[in-house]
Amino acid sequence: MPLLSKECEVHSLMSDVNNLAKPLGRKVLCIDDDLDVLKFEKVILEGAGYEVLLASSGDEGVNLAKVRGVDLVLLDYEMPRMFGTDVAQRLRAIQPTLPIIMVSGGDLPEEAARIVDCFVPKTNKMATTLLREVKRLIHPGRICAFCSLPIQNEQVPSVLLEAGKEVHGECYFKMI
Ligand SMILES: [Zn+2]
Repeated sequence: MPLLSKECEVHSLMSDVNNLAKPLGRKVLCIDDDLDVLKFEKVILEGAGYEVLLASSGDEGVNLAKVRGVDLVLLDYEMPRMFGTDVAQRLRAIQPTLPIIMVSGGDLPEEAARIVDCFVPKTNKMATTLLREVKRLIHPGRICAFCSLPIQNEQVPSVLLEAGKEVHGECYFKMI
């Protein structure tokens, strides 16, 4: 299934993206065994001004993070030899506050959702969600719109509301 169905979707996405402030010098590492997904993520993120590093296995990704240093990781859940959860744990051992977005074609087990900052399903709407989450996680100074405390890498993933407001996962359950 193509992630972007029409070429015009790419163009309209890029013009949206280009109106945002340029995220100077921020490095995003994409880890996925599917080369088409890697290519897609590279196009989207480079279009938004990020520097992109690609790895086709967990080992390669962990090494790149160690050697090059990165600001955020997009991580596939299901890969041969090493699950995304193992990769996430190894990345966090190197850099405890590293934001990690897990992408998956299927549902994510609860254990995996607890380890990473957020989960983005692989669908044809993935590009928009992905960019929004990358932007939210990579730029510091996130404040909960409910309790006004900072949002960091919480146990329960935070929830993005309309108009760019964000709340702690726990606060979200108090609101609804
Ligand atoms: Zn809160």
